[in-house]
Amino acid sequence: MSPTRPQSGVGGQAYEAILVRPSETLVAVDFDGTLAPITDDPEQAYADPVAVAALGRLGALVGQVVVITGRPARTAVRLGGFDRVQGLDRLVVLGQYGVERWDAATGEYVLPPEPEAITTVREELPGLLADLGLDRVRIENKGRAIGVHTRELRDPAALRRLEGPIRDLAERHGLHVEPGKSVLEIRAPGIDKGDALRRIVVEVGARQVVFAGDDLGDLPAFRAVEQLRTEGVDGLLICSASHEEDALTEISDLVLDGPAGVAEWLSALAARLERDRPASDGPAGN
Ligand SMILES: [Mg+2]
Repeated sequence: MSPTRPQSGVGGQAYEAILVRPSETLVAVDFDGTLAPITDDPEQAYADPVAVAALGRLGALVGQVVVITGRPARTAVRLGGFDRVQGLDRLVVLGQYGVERWDAATGEYVLPPEPEAITTVREELPGLLADLGLDRVRIENKGRAIGVHTRELRDPAALRRLEGPIRDLAERHGLHVEPGKSVLEIRAPGIDKGDALRRIVVEVGARQVVFAGDDLGDLPAFRAVEQLRTEGVDGLLICSASHEEDALTEISDLVLDGPAGVAEWLSALAARLERDRPASDGPAGN
């Protein structure tokens, strides 16, 4: 089965270029909502094994496979099982929007220290939540960021009630607030998935880039791909769609049905490239 071909002109062009020059392709994917289903407990959001197996196959076919996530790199590696799956020996995980890095090739982590403002805000948060009567809100410590999760409250009004005070607290300490699916993420400014993606595109010298994401935090990566297109890099933008967020569907070349749809598409791409490999990209086994 071949992967669904993007309908848009630029997406279709990128898709054809990937088939012709897979070794010059960077495949970049978000983690939560794209590789892993969204769950009530973020500690239980394991990657779809079909998607992980597909990334393992793609690792042998394309130039580079990278996971770009807001999660700490260690968490993504653990929830993805990336250190245990065959074929992922060249995978790179960029955690905390690119501040952290894990290279499967060496097994080494690069983990810069936590900013002081994050520590201070984390200390102040429980008091603020108690004042608002929202002490059941889950606080996720991400090192350089703090996730304030409201999913378990089962109350959409809670998120609206929280947003103002959370923004005030963050801004008082020079931090940003990034809204997501039933979560407000407080983080240090100056780095986003767009910066992370651009850096790795330059690092590996990619001529084509695929990026798959599901949420507002992926928007900077989408914008980076749009910018890269003006610089001669073909870009294919994939939305992992859900009923919770539609900010990316309009600007995507392909809209897939959540993590299962992404897993299926990546598997089909791997199968197609495996089939084509001897003719188009050197001998099998490279
Ligand atoms: Mg996501």
